[in-house]
Amino acid sequence: MKLKRLALAAVLAALFLLITACASPKEEAAASNKLKVVTTYSIIADIVENIGKDHVEVYSMVPRGTDPHLYDPKPNDTQAVEKADLVFYNGLNLETGKGWFDKLIKNSRKEEASFMVSEGVSPIHLSEKGKESEEDPHAWLNIQNGILYAQNIEKELSKKDPQNKTTYQKNLKAYTEKLQQLDTEAQKKIDSIPKNDRILVTSEGAFKYFAQRYGLTAEYIWEINTDNQGTPSQMTRINSIVKDKNVKALFVETSVSPKTMESVSRQTGVDIYSKIFTDSLADKGQEGDTYYDMLKWNINHIYEGLNGKK
Ligand SMILES: [Zn+2]
Repeated sequence: MKLKRLALAAVLAALFLLITACASPKEEAAASNKLKVVTTYSIIADIVENIGKDHVEVYSMVPRGTDPHLYDPKPNDTQAVEKADLVFYNGLNLETGKGWFDKLIKNSRKEEASFMVSEGVSPIHLSEKGKESEEDPHAWLNIQNGILYAQNIEKELSKKDPQNKTTYQKNLKAYTEKLQQLDTEAQKKIDSIPKNDRILVTSEGAFKYFAQRYGLTAEYIWEINTDNQGTPSQMTRINSIVKDKNVKALFVETSVSPKTMESVSRQTGVDIYSKIFTDSLADKGQEGDTYYDMLKWNINHIYEGLNGKK
């Protein structure tokens, strides 16, 4: 009996080895068929996943909930960039803090594989004295620019992987339709806010493109995250705007510390209505964990907050 059992175990073990030996090269082939894509931050990663779906393996560098303006690449990021088929970045002066992204690409010699997803956007410039020649990066908050990002991504995926071009184009079409509907909804909601109340106050001045598209005034404490944040003169300026213009609600971005906006709220007596998404998606599984959902969250909360809902 014992011998028989041993023999059976040996046969089973041999079978197992045979099966795993057969399966693994296939699995490896399937994995390597996917395009390896690296993105600088979560918003681009999500758009790539919507266009590439099963054909891409996406690695995003800047963790969700943190600021992509300033970042120190980790050893894993360098490895991912070195192995990447494509690298997508925002451009427009986003990934420029201490030159972190340019250095990374140069050191990995990936210049030819790197693409700026904001290609074709009409840039809005910073307004602060001495910074007028610098572009504002937050183009994706205008949904029309998000559609442009998706088109640019589709173009590069199709070039790199022409076999799946029709799939990428089909995915782009479906995704664009979804975003167009949200753009229409955004316009309707903003239009329904009383004209004098269409003032959106956030910590960083990230809503210039959004404001231009949908007809709002975007106010802020500091203009861009690479600035000093919450200086006395910035505080005096924003506090008087909030009081003079009778601002209905304040908002605070998920990727900056809420402390400075909390002190604006204390000093003006205007409440922070909710968090708002600008430079990062929410953690996976939370509300706002995709580009589409973060936009929807923003639109709904701006609509409610500025209409005086509590
Ligand atoms: Zn920003």
